[in-house]
Amino acid sequence: MPLLAVGTLAYDDVYTPYGEAKMIQGGSCSYIAMAAAQFVEPVQIVSVIGEDFKEEYLTDLKRRGADLEGVETIAGGKSFYWAGRYHDDMMGRDTLDTQLNVLADFDPKVPESYRRTDYIMLGNLTPAVQSRVLDQLDHRPKLVALDTMNFWMDVALDDLKAVLKRIDVLIINDEEARQLSGELSLLTAAAKIVEMGPKNLIIKKGEHGALLFEGDRVFSAPALLLPEVVDPTGAGDTFAGGLMGYLAASDDTSFENLKRAVIYGSAMASFVVEDFGPRRLRELDRAQIDERVERFVSLTNVAL
Ligand code: AMP
Repeated sequence: MPLLAVGTLAYDDVYTPYGEAKMIQGGSCSYIAMAAAQFVEPVQIVSVIGEDFKEEYLTDLKRRGADLEGVETIAGGKSFYWAGRYHDDMMGRDTLDTQLNVLADFDPKVPESYRRTDYIMLGNLTPAVQSRVLDQLDHRPKLVALDTMNFWMDVALDDLKAVLKRIDVLIINDEEARQLSGELSLLTAAAKIVEMGPKNLIIKKGEHGALLFEGDRVFSAPALLLPEVVDPTGAGDTFAGGLMGYLAASDDTSFENLKRAVIYGSAMASFVVEDFGPRRLRELDRAQIDERVERFVSLTNVAL
């Protein structure tokens, strides 16, 4: 089963207490695709780049099994650029610079060959752009997941609410869940958000794991305690890529399988933070992933 992923392909400058990395490969689609490709092939990418985007990044994505037919290159254009600095606690970060460049006029074009795909990951973008991707599909997919952020709740709430009616799984963090629902309790927030459309809600809680909601069922996934977090950039996208790659590969949208997918997504995210940018994802193999999944399971295993 292929996975269709929409998002950014970007250059990032990242500053953390461990050092800095400049003009490295970034963007939500880089992380989603590299994580999902561990489970599923092809990952069909819909994105936009400028002529400056390094050929070696594209070749690497292709080698991993990404389909780049839906990646538009704008002649003479510059790729999306983002710079951020993490606080000493590695949780908060400040955006130092965002240059939309070719993203400013991004009008996603879903190639004919992607239009019957059943698993769709809408990475964090303008909600109207996320909707335009769904408009171009030939059918109702089996599972559409969407990532968004507080910025879109501030500036495009109506568009966001419109696209939420068309998706199955919303992936946001705890702060965003509180903002979207206007509720402090995550349980009450989840109930309100599910009324907005998505059947499932996943709330990421950073170093405290993730919650999965469906109806009155809740699953709590732990986060691994890591000796060193070097760069948290892309953790959310990597989580989403691992989750959706696992779901597409297993072609099973039951609550039990979603629980497994949350663990695989969490395992992928635990790798990416160990080094700058997507570097750690480049060298991973399936045996390492399975070993880490085992650690997640044993972390909460108790005989009663
Ligand atoms: P995350 O750490 O999961 O928020 O993802 C970080 C990635 O998101 C970076 O590689 C950035 O290039 C990309 N990014 C940052 N800001 C935006 C934005 N406004 N729209 C789309 N992508 C962004």
